[in-house]
Amino acid sequence: MASLISALLAADAHPSGLNYEIYSGWSIVMAKRIRYRVLERALLARGCTSRPGKGDHVVWYCPCGGHIAVGVRARVVSPGVVQDIVTKLACLPEGWLS
Ligand SMILES: [Zn+2]
Repeated sequence: MASLISALLAADAHPSGLNYEIYSGWSIVMAKRIRYRVLERALLARGCTSRPGKGDHVVWYCPCGGHIAVGVRARVVSPGVVQDIVTKLACLPEGWLS
């Protein structure tokens, strides 16, 4: 905590750089909106496979075969859907989508 306070105090001396670091630190904490292409690439890189579902839904299968998640093929995927996929594909290593 002391380091955070000193960082905030030092931010006055170097506003742009330190404020950016504090801000980007926050953004890692929450699931965020993500482009579908980025999500798809991350899933494929982890060995997941996809099948088309109903309408614009896409069913994702994990490499172990024990987990299934349904996504939506939208241009941008909302944080709730991203979080849902991360939760459902529980066998993927932590931080696979980053
Ligand atoms: Zn699995």
